[in-house]
Amino acid sequence: MALIVQKYGGTSVGNPERIKNVAARVTKYRQQGDQVVVVVSAMSGVTDNLIKLAKAIMPLPSEREMDMLLATGEQTTIALTAMALHALDIDAVSLTGAQAGIVTDGVHTKAKIQNITPKQVHALLDSGKVVIVAGFQGQTAEGQITTLGRGGSDLTAIALAAALKADLCQIYTDVDGVYTADPRIVPGARKLNEISYDEMLELASLGAKVMQSRSVEFAKKFGVVFEVRSSLNDNPGTIVKEETESMEDVVIRGVSLDKNQAKVTIVGVPDKPGVAARIFKGLADAAINVDMIVQNVSRNTESPSTDLSFTVDKPDLAKAGKVIETLKAEIAFREANTDENIAKLSIVGVGMRSHSGVAAKVFETLAAESVNIEMISTSEIKISVIIALAKGEQAMKAVHQVFIG
Ligand code: ASP
Ligand code: MG
Repeated sequence: MALIVQKYGGTSVGNPERIKNVAARVTKYRQQGDQVVVVVSAMSGVTDNLIKLAKAIMPLPSEREMDMLLATGEQTTIALTAMALHALDIDAVSLTGAQAGIVTDGVHTKAKIQNITPKQVHALLDSGKVVIVAGFQGQTAEGQITTLGRGGSDLTAIALAAALKADLCQIYTDVDGVYTADPRIVPGARKLNEISYDEMLELASLGAKVMQSRSVEFAKKFGVVFEVRSSLNDNPGTIVKEETESMEDVVIRGVSLDKNQAKVTIVGVPDKPGVAARIFKGLADAAINVDMIVQNVSRNTESPSTDLSFTVDKPDLAKAGKVIETLKAEIAFREANTDENIAKLSIVGVGMRSHSGVAAKVFETLAAESVNIEMISTSEIKISVIIALAKGEQAMKAVHQVFIG
């Protein structure tokens, strides 16, 4: 007998039929004698609709009231899922985040879990019930309803699995697992049997959006092994866990393409202490996330200057351009350009630590495709390049072909 936490995302509970399918799957595990905790998201589209409704009332609604509103999405699904199990004669009960003992800080709409006291969950499981918990929500110590940020049901599941010391944590979604690349772009992409937390984090934050990154970080911190798999079939999924030695045998785990990046270049920046600090402080104050930063070697003249490029999320580009313009008088750079026709191609794998020549092979592959590299950044397990948006998919296919097949 195992204690299993299963999380079902919005599409997996998107209509009554799907909810009945979830109940049938839970029943199979239950009838094997397993104890099952089910975490559900709001039905697909529901959270977005609630946000729209709020905005139709006023542009900047109170965040406390937003949490009160958004928490209803998951509350609908837990009740329906419990009913679907009752219809199959399975004893089941639904719990809100608060009832499940999930205590958060008071930062409405992006609260952090502070602790979980799943006393009631344990008691209900011991009495033979399937326990259905609302994802994405919690409660402050003072009893205020909070939510955990978009996609937060993943976090609920991982955190509950840790708190309950579950034997198994399954994240059910509408894809079969984590792929070596987006199969809609790269026909040769294949599902991975396993991936390390660090690789998953690089791929998740890079646009292979299978799971909320925060929940993967949480899983890494607490050593929660989990499986990402489909709720639409019985195929085994991808196991996400701490890196093992054999994982390094594979050089590249996956390739991803982020088309949501844009580039800013500031030409003729005076090369002296404090200038970069001023620029990036300005961007940070405007809550703009900067990803890659490249600065040229300065030209050796009387008043040395350099060029500075960085990337931001595409929706932030206009705002970033404005911030830079306001700094022009103060910093006295020559000019600033923006370019939204770029993409970031990233190659990820823990095997890079022990295999040399990966960067050279990536650059050769891009050269053979006549793809120009505009910026490069690397970490121990990742190489990212900024290239022209129009060549992004071609470059991704070529790199995937060379390293993965
Ligand atoms: N319903 C929430 C959202 O759409 C949480 C989740 O689905 O994980 O962001
Ligand atoms: Mg979701």
